[in-house]
Amino acid sequence: MKPLTESEIRAAFVNCSKGEAARLNVPRDLAERPWEDLDFLGWRDPQAPDRGYLVIELDGRLVAIVLRASGATAWQARGSLCSLCRTPHADGVSLLVAPRAGKAGKQGHSVGAYMCADLACSLYVRGLKDPGTRFRESLTLEEKVDRMMGNLTAFLAKVLE
Ligand SMILES: [Zn+2]
Repeated sequence: MKPLTESEIRAAFVNCSKGEAARLNVPRDLAERPWEDLDFLGWRDPQAPDRGYLVIELDGRLVAIVLRASGATAWQARGSLCSLCRTPHADGVSLLVAPRAGKAGKQGHSVGAYMCADLACSLYVRGLKDPGTRFRESLTLEEKVDRMMGNLTAFLAKVLE
């Protein structure tokens, strides 16, 4: 994806208040992020470990969402696959919950999914990060990225609808 600036990221949040978007912790090392290997930018908040954020370009529009870890980590075999990139993690995946955008979110509705705890799905599918499990799939990188983007787009559609 193309490199993003802090102000672009802050302006893209759809499921939190403007004040929250202005205050939340955007990575300080944006210039050093491996943008060419990222399909979306995801990070956990170093000062609020239960918070996570995700930014993606959807149909030419930048969309950022806030996520909250539900507390429980999925240690069980079934839950240990990231629902976006399908990477299995030896030390579990996080159940991350996004308030829905707009009215639904204000009424407390949210959408959750099991995800790589560090939101580095793009790096796992490229083999640039080790999930601590032995796992081979016969899919090409392009197929894995397509699947991940399809899963992420479906998740975001539920947040945005
Ligand atoms: Zn993942």
